Amino acid sequence: MSSNTGFNSQNGPGGQPYANGPLQNPAVLQPPGPGYNMSHQPPYNPMQAKGPMPPGTGLYNSGPYQPIPPVSSYQAPPGQPMLNRPPMGPPQSTSPCPGPRMPPAHATPPPVSANSYYQHPPAWQYGALPPMGAPPPIGAPPPMATPPLAFVGNHVTSSPSPAPPQATSAGYSAAPSPVFNNAMQSPGPSLPPTSLHRYTHEGSDPPPKNPMAPHTYQPGMAAPYGHPPAGPPPSMRPTPPPMGNATPPLPFGPETDAGHIPTPGNGAQVPNRFDHLETGPKMAGPLPPQQPGPPARHMGLSYPSLPPGYQNTSASPMHHPMHAPTQPYSHAPQSYQQPSAGPSQLSPSLAGLSLQSQTPEALRVVNLLQERNLLPPGPFTPPTPCLPKDLQKINCHPEVFRSTLTSIPQTQSLLNKAKLPLGLLLHPFKDLSQLPVVTSSTIVRCRSCRTYINPFVTFLDQRRWKCNLCYRVNDVPEEFMYNPVSRSYGEPHKRPEVQNATIEFIAPSEYMLRPPQPAVYLFVLDVSHNAVETGYLDVVCQSLLENINALPGDSRTKIGFITFDSTIHFYNLQEGLAQPQMLIVSDIEDIFLPTPDSLLVNLNECKELVQDLLKSLPQMFGKTMETQSALGPALQAAFKLLSATGGRVSVFQTQLPNLGVGALKSREDPNQRASAKDIQNLSPATDFYKKLALDCSGQQVAVDLFLLSTQYCDLASLACISRYSAGSVYYYPSYQQQHNPAGVECFQKDLKRYLTRKIGLEAVMRIRCTKGLSIHTFHGNFFVRSTDLLSLPNVNPDAGFAVQMSIEENLVDMQSVSFQAALLYTSSKGERRIRVHTMCLPVVNSLSDIFAGADVQAITGLLASMAVDRSVTASLSDARDAMTNASIDSLTSYRTSVLTIQQPGLLAPACLRLFPLYILALLKQKAFRTGTSTRLDDRVFAMCQLKYQPLAYVMLMIHPALYRVDDLTDEGALNISERAIPQPRVQQLSVEKLSREGAFLMDAGSVIYLWIGRNCNPNFLTQVLGVPNYAAVPQNMNILPELDTAESQRTRAFVGWLREQRPFFPILHVIRDESPLKASFMQNMIEDRTESALSYYEFLLHVQQQVSK
Ligand SMILES: [Zn+2]
Repeated sequence: MSSNTGFNSQNGPGGQPYANGPLQNPAVLQPPGPGYNMSHQPPYNPMQAKGPMPPGTGLYNSGPYQPIPPVSSYQAPPGQPMLNRPPMGPPQSTSPCPGPRMPPAHATPPPVSANSYYQHPPAWQYGALPPMGAPPPIGAPPPMATPPLAFVGNHVTSSPSPAPPQATSAGYSAAPSPVFNNAMQSPGPSLPPTSLHRYTHEGSDPPPKNPMAPHTYQPGMAAPYGHPPAGPPPSMRPTPPPMGNATPPLPFGPETDAGHIPTPGNGAQVPNRFDHLETGPKMAGPLPPQQPGPPARHMGLSYPSLPPGYQNTSASPMHHPMHAPTQPYSHAPQSYQQPSAGPSQLSPSLAGLSLQSQTPEALRVVNLLQERNLLPPGPFTPPTPCLPKDLQKINCHPEVFRSTLTSIPQTQSLLNKAKLPLGLLLHPFKDLSQLPVVTSSTIVRCRSCRTYINPFVTFLDQRRWKCNLCYRVNDVPEEFMYNPVSRSYGEPHKRPEVQNATIEFIAPSEYMLRPPQPAVYLFVLDVSHNAVETGYLDVVCQSLLENINALPGDSRTKIGFITFDSTIHFYNLQEGLAQPQMLIVSDIEDIFLPTPDSLLVNLNECKELVQDLLKSLPQMFGKTMETQSALGPALQAAFKLLSATGGRVSVFQTQLPNLGVGALKSREDPNQRASAKDIQNLSPATDFYKKLALDCSGQQVAVDLFLLSTQYCDLASLACISRYSAGSVYYYPSYQQQHNPAGVECFQKDLKRYLTRKIGLEAVMRIRCTKGLSIHTFHGNFFVRSTDLLSLPNVNPDAGFAVQMSIEENLVDMQSVSFQAALLYTSSKGERRIRVHTMCLPVVNSLSDIFAGADVQAITGLLASMAVDRSVTASLSDARDAMTNASIDSLTSYRTSVLTIQQPGLLAPACLRLFPLYILALLKQKAFRTGTSTRLDDRVFAMCQLKYQPLAYVMLMIHPALYRVDDLTDEGALNISERAIPQPRVQQLSVEKLSREGAFLMDAGSVIYLWIGRNCNPNFLTQVLGVPNYAAVPQNMNILPELDTAESQRTRAFVGWLREQRPFFPILHVIRDESPLKASFMQNMIEDRTESALSYYEFLLHVQQQVSK
């Protein structure tokens, strides 16, 4: 029954080693500073040679997996009872925890368990001199003289002694004023009595006599973090915070995320401030309300060439479930009710029997060979976890935090049976317009596992809360008793921290050893002949000039520039100079900084010099004949320049680097592009870029790569510089200023977003989950510092992440589990902030329940990331097989274990009905396709995007949305800012859906095609395109003219709305039959057969054959 290749969903204990390396990470035990052993680089290492892969390995299986205790595993400290895991559901009338006791007021702090991250030495330390700041070689000549004239190249051949690294030049602005700003809206209706927050009163456990006691700062705990504060206990009433620095500073590194942020305890309570975080420039806006789509139209559909059994049926059964709720959580489909009596009461057979009567929509049986019209008419709505209504309402938004299975299997063996991958998809730093921000002297966290208090904890009474991850009972700090929203006392469960699944804390600055790092921007620009030919330098300089005041930052922001061809050019921008000075270093073998103090300057103080430079740069190299590119040395220089402060490097490269370290050779054979054989050279040619990226990561430097090239550049090697330093990769494959105006516009728009979007510096992200679950393989751009801690020198609002999970211990007796992602970062304003997302999911013990909660898009997104890894570590064909088998195995499991009444056909539960289609789409995606000519860099870039883009954009890359747009109406339109946004129905990706009389718009994520039929409605041609007839449609049309017609306004509103929803700028191509781009458009017709790939129907037959074996 199960297929031979790749169908093993053993992603837990007992399986094979993870393709990405073992979970156990020796690097955890040693500081991964510069010089740490690369071979210890663990989970995220597609380059690493895979362990022997037994035949029949699956996509998510992997080798001798040695389970390590989950981080959240709690060891009861001496003298404290080990808490059993009680049920998580609605509280019973008595405490589920037998006799939870208040911890003794001065108890010994919980010992640090062996797997705790607290005891690990910090990976790096603020203020520590970076290794690159080491003295120069002996015999270095004295510092070179500054040239008298600007832009006169000074060829310096050896190293002066670098000045000590500048820490922060400008003063650090103190903590935000603790003004209480009640801007935060009421967090919602007060909890119904059935809420988890209901107090459970136990007769045997009187409330603490001394309410201050639990709050008392524990000297023992303070040891690693600083001195215990002194002073009287906090008063009940909020008073202004201490102005002086009464509390000794504490080290504030990434470890602080894991560390204890103590209560000052000096009697001064800081009133809480709530305000809304500033929104990003473009993506601002509330999480888009999921609007109901237009009423589904019956799509008459002909399938002439298909066998008789394969007939189009009415879409009617699909209508109601796919209509998104108007509010994210308000009235999510409740058709599927989890039995509250306990999971053990529901057996698969019972669920199967119920199919005939009260089948939840998610489990409605769909015969894929018969039902053709499976796409939801509007935007896809992820399934809503089956939780009590009040928790459902409060749960984390699926755009931010999402699970492949919204019902978590009770055991790993049950998960293995389902053959569905278990993992999380995150978009942790997404721009949000509604983000509660809390300034509080006490950030309430579990004393055992450091989980932040969240909506899914249980209050045992007013003074104690039980952690939902490790089940430890914690004290409610005194300050928490005051609710700044209601301005009342004694309602800790109404605090914003327990009313919002997404929240941000401002860490009190008194607890910092040194100020958070300033925003530091370094631009590294290719100025070779090739680069100048593209004309990109104009755009970069112009864009920077226009947005220089919008760069996120404060009075400490620094900026610097490096240009390079065969030599490296630095720019002295120090205040007081008449003009910028260019310093050329030609010794690229041993790169050094000519005047280390003046190359990175304060943006505010030196803005005029910076502007002068930006105005001159494009002309300075206008006549260059230098063709060589020393990218590697330029990156080394950038690293040296930023290693003292950390910051962001933006690299612009236009060709294959061919000089100095990191030089690359072409590895692409154009004749092999369409080869059906396996694709070679998906892994890097050198480890130079990865090693340098890890050095950068250790110094809080991230590198973003902009690749603008018509030639092969070996992106597989170059992208490592961004992948491991938590940067981003941008790729403009045919960038040319004169010949590709649409590409220029796209680059301009992307740059504007890039320069002005929010940035988080020196960040770490930790993902915690309820005891029993364990997180392994991570996907995205970062360095894995320890088992669950990602190092993110920069975090940007457009980055997505995915993780795979396994179930280490049976989740028996649990009704729900929780996941918490905590992102600790320094804002561009110098605040240390912690953004916390918490998601709660029910635990189930039947296969049918697991299937009912499957989120097909999240599953597809996770599989795509896993397949990228597989392509690199094994082979593309292996990855393709594994993806195909993923759909076969899950449908086989469904057929054999969930369905009780066998029927002919290829059967899927309604919630997975799109699974085979999405898998086929992945097989035809640029990243994984075979048989179609695909440039290697294009393929590698698609793989990069699949790994680090948020799911919404990944899905458009995989399965574009097709709309008919020549007959747009306002019926069912969205109304946004008094603009009506038409909502045409999503069409199947088949040529059969096209009509010569129509115009069709295909949204493929980073590109939008507008296909014009040969006999297109003349009204559309004149009123929207402004041309008299079909023949007059220009060959290279990339904009819609602004015509004063209703049709034009509607069409532009629709395209504009699609574009506004993503952080990058999708280019628009208007195409007709003769257009060269028609082929690209047609390649996205996933349901159709091509010379090298199956049609959707053929693919279904193949799957059916395997399932029925
Ligand atoms: Zn805990």
